[in-house]
Amino acid sequence: MGFTKFGLSDHVIKGVEAAGYTTPTPIQSLAIKPALEGRDIIGCAQTGTGKTAAFVLPLLHRLASETGSQPTVAGIPSRRSHHVRALVITPTRELAQQVHDAVSNYGRFLTLRTVVVYGGVSMDNQLKLLRRGADIVIATPGRLLDHMQRRSIDLSKVQILVLDEADRMLDMGFINDVKKIIAAVPRDRQTMLFSATISGEIKGLASDILRNPHLVEAG
Ligand code: AMP
Repeated sequence: MGFTKFGLSDHVIKGVEAAGYTTPTPIQSLAIKPALEGRDIIGCAQTGTGKTAAFVLPLLHRLASETGSQPTVAGIPSRRSHHVRALVITPTRELAQQVHDAVSNYGRFLTLRTVVVYGGVSMDNQLKLLRRGADIVIATPGRLLDHMQRRSIDLSKVQILVLDEADRMLDMGFINDVKKIIAAVPRDRQTMLFSATISGEIKGLASDILRNPHLVEAG
């Protein structure tokens, strides 16, 4: 059965196969189906469990299915516009880059555009890429706030929000930045929060930002 049992679209399955995966990991088996249904997810999982694909695959499926049903004008497909519909926030640029690599890898048969945004590098290239349009943005909190303040990014059409390694984000003191970012995305969205540990603080954050979440644990 492998990955075909979840109802992921053929292009996403092809991406998974090209990545060489045959069997879903436990966190993937538990998270993919509810995530595809649009449920909010709280995932307790460490690095190495396959947590990235657990949120990236449903995210790709949901965005790609929607892109296919874009309106046409007089029978001619409208020029595809790219709005930021999925936002992934990570604590570090290394993790942001890893998530970006995963999205490019699994999404290689899709036409979604992904931009990664983190600090410590020049703004110019990020500004250029954001101007061209992105469906998915992966970002660290500080640099994302810079872009929000410059109005170089519009988060008003975000449908899927992912907080990856939320416990590290809190440890690194990003809680206020994260709250400002969440305040700028629509309330009506799917939210997935992944964390290696579920502390009281994480539970508090989860109860503020998730709606009736489905809890999945890597084991
Ligand atoms: P992650 O926990 O998301 O950082 O993933 C850890 C590693 O497992 C990465 O190198 C992934 O490429 C790999 N991986 C994720 N899912 C699978 C899978 N279903 N089968 C084989 N390898 C996987």
